[in-house]
Amino acid sequence: DIRLKNINKVFGNYKALDDVSFEIEKGKLIGLLGPSGSGKTTILRILAGLEYQDSGDVYLDGVLVNELSASRRGIGFVFQSYGLFPYMTVYDNIAYGLKVQKKSKDYIKNRVSELLELVELPGLEKRYPSQLSGGQMQRIAFARALAPNPQLLLLDEPFAAIDAKVRKELRSWLREMITKIGITSIFVTHDQDEAVEVADEIIITNKGRIEQIGTPIELYKNPRTPFVAQFIG
Ligand code: ATP
Repeated sequence: DIRLKNINKVFGNYKALDDVSFEIEKGKLIGLLGPSGSGKTTILRILAGLEYQDSGDVYLDGVLVNELSASRRGIGFVFQSYGLFPYMTVYDNIAYGLKVQKKSKDYIKNRVSELLELVELPGLEKRYPSQLSGGQMQRIAFARALAPNPQLLLLDEPFAAIDAKVRKELRSWLREMITKIGITSIFVTHDQDEAVEVADEIIITNKGRIEQIGTPIELYKNPRTPFVAQFIG
């Protein structure tokens, strides 16, 4: 499981995170939902070790990781703008983290084709990102993040750059995929419908604080603050 305990983060004199604590059970898909500037991305970056908290603790699977660098935390990342290497083929993009791990050529070849099957894009090894649609790029980004077998998957507005129709397809695809793999995942969104449709549980952020955590139904039925009531609608 994942645990954040009393996390504080200040940028200049702006308090981006104010005593943030939550816990996530293994295998859950969590939506981090809140208005712009409420601290969602900062939470992901601190979890990933791309940014360090001023105070508080981060635990991954019971291990305190405050001092661990990003590459040692075993976390996969999918960003809003794909983040694929444009000058590398699909194969090399997915293989990237495996080469860093010094896996054998055979292992990498098998793993890449297994992942392309998983994301339902078999045979696209030789394509370049510019030859893919937005939805396909995002599936490849997903395959690349999963390649090194991370224990946690973080998705920062993964569908924001994709048009409405494909976006809807991708949502249900993501939901199915995560259920199939059983990997603990957190995705950032400011879209209420997306969070409600996809997440097992939603964490509502506002001005650097957590307003409420619950299943979509709990948040609808028992909003604990006026902000949650209004934001969830
Ligand atoms: P959005 O939905 O717009 O991406 P968010 O909820 O993800 O917003 P964060 O990106 O976490 O919000 O930012 C929280 C606050 O911290 C914002 O006011 C932002 O301007 C500020 N902030 C984030 N990173 C930095 C930084 N490196 N330096 C200064 N201020 C920052």
